[in-house]
Amino acid sequence: MFGRAAPVVEIGHILTGLRCAACGAMDTLWFDLARLLIECRECGTGALLDVGDEEVDE
Ligand SMILES: [Zn+2]
Repeated sequence: MFGRAAPVVEIGHILTGLRCAACGAMDTLWFDLARLLIECRECGTGALLDVGDEEVDE
Protein backbone atom coordinates (compact mmCIF):
# COMPACT_ATOMS: atom_id res chain seq x y z
CA MET A 1 0.00 0.00 0.00
CA PHE A 2 2.48 2.60 1.19
CA GLY A 3 6.00 1.78 0.15
CA ARG A 4 7.77 3.87 2.73
CA ALA A 5 11.47 3.60 2.16
CA ALA A 6 12.40 7.17 2.99
CA PRO A 7 12.91 8.33 6.56
CA VAL A 8 9.77 9.62 8.20
CA VAL A 9 11.12 13.08 8.79
CA GLU A 10 9.12 15.30 6.50
CA ILE A 11 5.79 13.88 7.58
CA GLY A 12 5.79 15.83 10.80
CA HIS A 13 5.16 19.53 11.04
CA ILE A 14 6.64 21.59 13.83
CA LEU A 15 4.12 23.67 15.68
CA THR A 16 5.77 26.92 16.61
CA GLY A 17 4.60 29.14 19.41
CA LEU A 18 3.19 26.28 21.39
CA ARG A 19 4.37 25.07 24.75
CA CYS A 20 4.43 21.47 25.81
CA ALA A 21 2.02 20.93 28.65
CA ALA A 22 4.14 18.16 30.09
CA CYS A 23 7.69 19.56 30.16
CA GLY A 24 7.04 23.23 29.38
CA ALA A 25 9.41 23.40 26.41
CA MET A 26 8.61 25.81 23.61
CA ASP A 27 8.46 24.92 19.92
CA THR A 28 9.08 21.26 20.51
CA LEU A 29 5.64 20.06 19.59
CA TRP A 30 5.25 18.56 16.19
CA PHE A 31 2.22 17.34 14.36
CA ASP A 32 2.48 13.79 13.12
CA LEU A 33 0.30 13.79 10.03
CA ALA A 34 0.51 10.04 9.67
CA ARG A 35 -0.98 9.33 13.07
CA LEU A 36 -2.86 12.59 13.62
CA LEU A 37 -1.23 13.26 16.93
CA ILE A 38 0.90 15.94 18.47
CA GLU A 39 4.12 14.85 20.06
CA CYS A 40 6.78 16.66 22.03
CA ARG A 41 10.32 16.13 20.82
CA GLU A 42 11.71 16.94 24.25
CA CYS A 43 9.82 14.61 26.51
CA GLY A 44 8.04 12.45 23.97
CA THR A 45 4.62 13.19 25.30
CA GLY A 46 1.99 12.61 22.69
CA ALA A 47 -1.62 13.65 22.51
CA LEU A 48 -4.19 12.63 20.00
CA LEU A 49 -5.76 15.48 18.13
CA ASP A 50 -9.41 16.15 18.52
CA VAL A 51 -10.53 16.00 14.93
CA GLY A 52 -14.10 16.86 15.79
CA ASP A 53 -15.43 13.35 15.70
CA GLU A 54 -15.84 12.77 19.37
CA GLU A 55 -16.52 9.41 20.82
CA VAL A 56 -19.14 9.36 23.49
CA ASP A 57 -18.29 7.36 26.54
CA GLU A 58 -21.22 6.20 28.52
ZN1 LIG B 1 7.40 17.96 26.40
